[in-house]
Amino acid sequence: MINARAINHLGIAVRSLADQHAFYADVLGARLEGIEEVPEQQVKVAFYTLGEGDHAVRLELLEPTAPTSPIAGFIEKRGEGLHHVAYTVADLPARLAELKAAGVRLIDEQPRNGAHHTRIAFLHPKASMGVLTELCEPAHQAASV
Ligand code: ZN
Repeated sequence: MINARAINHLGIAVRSLADQHAFYADVLGARLEGIEEVPEQQVKVAFYTLGEGDHAVRLELLEPTAPTSPIAGFIEKRGEGLHHVAYTVADLPARLAELKAAGVRLIDEQPRNGAHHTRIAFLHPKASMGVLTELCEPAHQAASV
């Protein structure tokens, strides 16, 4: 089992971070925490936070930086919108080994680098009925928001 501790964030695929900013900042009232590029995934990522502390809700907006980006492929096929749900876990390599042993299909059998110095891994969407599922291990569990 993944023993999720929380929903870490929701990933949302967008064509343009700039075009979405007004909705997230002005309509939802979310705070833009930062924008960072993750070259391995060919995306530019904007993190927004709503609320405070343990109850904060984090949104990860993903803009493709190349036509070959997985996010570009997703938008082409399904349009902009909810892309994945990310759960906070501890000891990601152990979680992946357990899932693999249980026969769960994984995209990433080894953790890779995510935004915000996290280690992440994706389950195969067919393993979770079409909802792409990310496991996310923050660099500093205690300091995670
Ligand atoms: Zn994510």
